[in-house]
Amino acid sequence: MNISINNSKENHSDEKTKSSSELRQDIVSGDWVVIATGRAKRPDEFGNVQRSQDDKGIENCLFEDPVASGQEKDVLIYHRADGDWTLRVFPNKYPALSPGKSIKKISDGPYLSMPGVGYHEIVVTRDHYKQLAIMDVMEIAEVFDAYQDRYLEHMSKKNVNYIAVFHNHGKESGASIPHPHSQLMAVPVVAPYIKLELDGAAKYHKSNKECVFCTIVEHESQEGKRVVFENDQFIAFCPFASRAAFEVHVMPKKHSPYFERITDEQKIKLAEVFGKALGAVYKALNDPPYNFYIHSAPCDGSDYPHYHWHIEILPHTSTWAGFELDTGIEISTIQPEVAAEYLRSQL
Ligand SMILES: [Zn+2]
Ligand SMILES: [Zn+2]
Ligand SMILES: [Zn+2]
Repeated sequence: MNISINNSKENHSDEKTKSSSELRQDIVSGDWVVIATGRAKRPDEFGNVQRSQDDKGIENCLFEDPVASGQEKDVLIYHRADGDWTLRVFPNKYPALSPGKSIKKISDGPYLSMPGVGYHEIVVTRDHYKQLAIMDVMEIAEVFDAYQDRYLEHMSKKNVNYIAVFHNHGKESGASIPHPHSQLMAVPVVAPYIKLELDGAAKYHKSNKECVFCTIVEHESQEGKRVVFENDQFIAFCPFASRAAFEVHVMPKKHSPYFERITDEQKIKLAEVFGKALGAVYKALNDPPYNFYIHSAPCDGSDYPHYHWHIEILPHTSTWAGFELDTGIEISTIQPEVAAEYLRSQL
């Protein structure tokens, strides 16, 4: 994205008021966002909305007893000491992509396509009414453990070059089944957003001889004003150029391109920081719809030493409208510093 801003003519910094708008640049992608606090509400007003109640309850839930409801066979299941299951993973019954041998590109005139080859799995936790935002540290750590287990299973497969792990909560965020579940999609192509981040990270490293994400982690931890919660190994913060109100990123403090190499001890540290951050979003915004996803280096056989894996939590506080779709510039209606302060106050 190329937007030139002429700020040499006048310096408006003295005139900055609470209601002024600001363009901020994402240090990784180079993209600009608008922080338009002129339209803003007070932080506590974001949660002051009626949430849609479309959950038909556990009697009609397909994930209470996945076997009885005709889901695919489990590929992973964790049990409690008393025998009941706590988490299970099975292939999506209606996969966006299916296993197949060939990803040979097919040309159709000037166009290219390839078969929809890949793996699409569902990660379901036991309790219908217990979303990740209200789970305890060990329950969250178990979810990350399952993500890692399935990631490792798929990453070495032929035709798998990228693995997306994501979670939708709430109808407005795309969750069609209210029972808490995450999804894993192993795909033959590297996702465009990851490509942007890989390119941005490589470029930053070339000019600064440093990982851009390590730079962010160090700066955020030192400055503190956008931090939601941190421990010795992970940090959760509202990004300087947040795309949406109350966006939170969770990053390991120690440089690592690859989520799948996380240790058991790190999973617990991650679960603590992630749980606090998601819990704060849940409380601050009154159980909002949200998406979160893991961004990790592709598993396409190349090395990505300058990438740094992380999780992005994106609460659904507004709908993309013409301006966003037209330009790719997103408008956030609260300063990330104010959002972080409000999230901290929920802990
Ligand atoms: Zn359920
Ligand atoms: Zn790094
Ligand atoms: Zn990312």
